[in-house]
Amino acid sequence: MNVPTAPSEDLPDLPHARQLKVGFDWLSFDPVLESEFRRTRLEESLGYIRANLLLGVVITLAFAAMDAIVLGHTLDRIPARIEILVSEPLLLCVLAATFAQNRQRFYPPVAMAALGLCGLSQAALQVIASLSGTALQFPSMIWTAMFAYFMAGLVFYQALAVNLLVLVAYLAAGTATQLGAVAFSYEALALVTVNLIGASVVYMHEKTSRTRFLEAGLLREMVARDGLTGIQNRRMFDQHIRRVWNQATRDAQRIAVLLVDIDCFKDYNDRYGHQAGDECLRAVASTLSRSARRPLDFTARYGGEEFAIVLYEASREYVAEVLTRIQRSIADLNIAHEASTVTSRLTVSIGAAFILPTTNRTPEGLIQLADEALYSAKGQGRNRVVVMEAEYHNLQTGRFEKRRNQRAG
Ligand code: GH3
Ligand code: MG
Ligand code: MG
Repeated sequence: MNVPTAPSEDLPDLPHARQLKVGFDWLSFDPVLESEFRRTRLEESLGYIRANLLLGVVITLAFAAMDAIVLGHTLDRIPARIEILVSEPLLLCVLAATFAQNRQRFYPPVAMAALGLCGLSQAALQVIASLSGTALQFPSMIWTAMFAYFMAGLVFYQALAVNLLVLVAYLAAGTATQLGAVAFSYEALALVTVNLIGASVVYMHEKTSRTRFLEAGLLREMVARDGLTGIQNRRMFDQHIRRVWNQATRDAQRIAVLLVDIDCFKDYNDRYGHQAGDECLRAVASTLSRSARRPLDFTARYGGEEFAIVLYEASREYVAEVLTRIQRSIADLNIAHEASTVTSRLTVSIGAAFILPTTNRTPEGLIQLADEALYSAKGQGRNRVVVMEAEYHNLQTGRFEKRRNQRAG
């Protein structure tokens, strides 16, 4: 069956898109995406896995009760008792591993080892009991195989490895001990069939869920990015500033917002054409996103030819360092702008605001302060930086809007 995928042509150059393009017939992504996929998958199916493990514990107890009723105190009950004494604690171990803090690392090996041991012990009991009379463990072997494939939350290769180990061990032990030929042949065939069905269904299901994972990741990326420049968009800026604001309020950290606006960009478009304007926006966006490089630094296209940068833990020195870096790198771009009223090269004006957030203020005030600073930089002749800090205390949110409208008019 062909799993429907997003059309691969014209996909943006993003990790999820690249993986969709190259495909994953062997059910494996590049290492970063692979670990993200496994982590997401385990976390998303944790409740389901726990419910399945509890079901496993209950079913094992139900088998024990049935053994007690049907077999009473006959010798046949000994392997059944051993089986339950082995599988019950193993299932509980796997259940405990789902609660481990670093379950991403521990759960898969614990589940594989436990289910492998369950299967191997059932196979051994089945072989030993067959030699001395009636053996009743075969249904449990089937149930364990199905559990490993469908219910334990293992990925395809993990489930396959556990089941192949048990299958090979059982076939080898059965052949070596020359079990009753007829019964063994049917059981061996049944176990091979269960493995074929299990592997085939899990392969198909995992292929689909990997495709969905890539498509969902791609969609998230595309919703977060500006279509023209590829950097984060306004929506992400709005989310980020709120998150950073709350975190900075809690941690008593300073944050800075830098609004970077290209000077005389309308004239640039008029002079060189809209296409050249787009190229210019791309170049500026990529330069700006390289200028603020700390992990919590954030650069977005704020709108039109305006970009916003958020700096966390923004000391005065760090803000100054980033501002200098931006001005230098824009100058290094050395883009001709003959129509500019400032110089013959492309320049930017920057409004920077940096403050210590408090619970009685909002991020809007910080953005407004940066906007005031930008407005002031434009008013002072463009191609410059204005930093505002103390002005924050006298800021009246909303007052600026009027002035800005006047400017636009
Ligand atoms: P100032 O120095 O005061 O900032 O003047 P400005 O001309 O840069 O500012 P203004 O707001 O008058 O014009 C902004 C221009 O940016 C107008 C618009 O055509 C252009 N622009 C906005 N978005 C895009 C875009 O995606 N591509 C291109 N090529 N131009 C854009
Ligand atoms: Mg401008
Ligand atoms: Mg503008």
